[in-house]
Amino acid sequence: MAEFSIIDTYFNRQQQTDVDLGVGDDSALLTPPPQHQLVICADTLVAGRHFPSNTSAHAIGWKSVAVNLSDIAAMGATPHSILLALSLPQIDHDWLKGFSQGLYDCCDQFGVRLIGGDTTQSPHLTLSVTALGWIETGQAIARSGAQLDDLIVVSGTVGDAAFGLKHLGHPLQQRLDYPTPRCELGEMLKGLASSMIDVSDGLAQDLGHILKASNVGACIDLALLPIDNALKALSEQEQWKYALAGGDDYELCFTISMQNYQKLLQLQPHVKTTIIGKITQQCGITFEKDGLDHPLQLQGYQHFA
Ligand code: ADP
Ligand code: MG
Repeated sequence: MAEFSIIDTYFNRQQQTDVDLGVGDDSALLTPPPQHQLVICADTLVAGRHFPSNTSAHAIGWKSVAVNLSDIAAMGATPHSILLALSLPQIDHDWLKGFSQGLYDCCDQFGVRLIGGDTTQSPHLTLSVTALGWIETGQAIARSGAQLDDLIVVSGTVGDAAFGLKHLGHPLQQRLDYPTPRCELGEMLKGLASSMIDVSDGLAQDLGHILKASNVGACIDLALLPIDNALKALSEQEQWKYALAGGDDYELCFTISMQNYQKLLQLQPHVKTTIIGKITQQCGITFEKDGLDHPLQLQGYQHFA
């Protein structure tokens, strides 16, 4: 089966509403809403590196979209569409069927269309997705806006996916394979959060990016970290390691004034949010427990380490 037949069979099945020209021409065409900026990002998943080799095709399809929608959400933007660059070692119809189903399941859940891409043969299975979204001009939430005394808040629970990776077959592997991009929360934070990032490489490292970009520091209360019950049997040290240095959470970490946080709660987001600390003047992250300093050694995920 040739490239075009793969595209037609597996990647050309959606209603293309809100798209001027989708899959099938040299490029796709979109009309941005007036007074909006285009928000665009890309993320690549490599077999054996970004997912265990026994991960189902369906999960790989889901995750390749979800990680990109998470980046769009982290700007406060509304996701619109994706492009898929697919490099396959061979044509495996069962795999392509599962993969495209997972990809469309995630697209459908978040109202996103697949509008184009590229399909090639290569020795390594590699999936590169580009996501596009919109945001009212000037409203995007960058990493650089954190202010002294802002609250630091994180969505959901952190450390689950890293725990799932270490304990394949445990129910928390679901959090590794099927991350939930926090699209609704991200959009709600427009006009409220002062800075935001999605947590993909470990909370401490990703919060560190906000601190650096904003030229501030943070104090985190270890007792406040939102940790799943399944991890509660571990020592505190282990729990903190998963929560702060585990990767693949795809939760949102944001800074926000107390007043705006109250406004967010009134909007009743569907995902839980937890205050874990506050922004300080002193650079870097300090950890506290029971009101006392509690130094920790941590390392997040580094791609070329
Ligand atoms: P070109 O050779 O002009 O780059 P292609 O033959 O690669 O075009 O692709 C034909 C059409 O199919 C294009 O509209 C492209 O965006 C789309 N396409 C190719 N691969 C994929 C894919 N994996 N998923 C979705 N659309 C794809
Ligand atoms: Mg091409």
